[in-house]
Amino acid sequence: MRATLVAANWKMNGSFASNREWLRVFTASTVSSEVAVCAPYVYLAQVADALRGTRHASAGAQNLSAEAPGTATGEIAAEMLLDCGVRWVIVGHSERRSRYGESSGIVAAKAARAVVHGLKPIICVGETLHEREQGRTLAVITAQLAPVFDACAADELAACAIAYEPVWAIGTGQTATPAQAQEVHAAIRSLLSRHDPGAASQTRIVYGGSVKPSNALELFAQPDVDGGLIGGASLSVTDFISICQSADRAAN
Ligand code: PEP
Repeated sequence: MRATLVAANWKMNGSFASNREWLRVFTASTVSSEVAVCAPYVYLAQVADALRGTRHASAGAQNLSAEAPGTATGEIAAEMLLDCGVRWVIVGHSERRSRYGESSGIVAAKAARAVVHGLKPIICVGETLHEREQGRTLAVITAQLAPVFDACAADELAACAIAYEPVWAIGTGQTATPAQAQEVHAAIRSLLSRHDPGAASQTRIVYGGSVKPSNALELFAQPDVDGGLIGGASLSVTDFISICQSADRAAN
């Protein structure tokens, strides 16, 4: 049985004061799903410290370097994230692929570096609207995951989560239907299964793209949807708690 995972992606938002209030409300709530709060680098220690006493929640970064510590000005290494108390890291978010030129090869190298150091990567994949309309959704996702399968061993894959995030649904208010999400999640699980059946049953595949309190339960109730990666709606702590509680209900 896979434990449900809900990850907040704050993107480039937050301040020490607003984070403190968010964390105060969140840590007072009752959520039983596993939760990752993925904050900008400068707030990671604050988030990790606030979540340290909780049973299921931990801090996550939104990126890391594929390189070892050294002469990479402005980059952050896996070792440094661990030093801050971080447990999760998002890799290959579509904003990083499209705006910062991250190839699937780089994403796979980042995922491998994370997992080797004991961080749990949330590997994002997903097609654009144009690719979906051309019937290329599965081909795109297969190509995005192939270097990950080459870079990570089966037991390492089981420690990763894969986030299916259709690019056309991110921040647009346009959510994949539960059936569309389930279809792609099942296809991703079958790709995993061709690579390693053990990993296929253990790796969590979460959905991201305009998840909100009103649509979370139906999405998370799909058999291959193991939770969500939540962008905009995670900025409101009450919406995020409500989404986490939908994940709790879907798991029961
Ligand atoms: C995201 O940025 O990962 C995301 C899913 O954003 P949103 O929930 O705002 O669509």
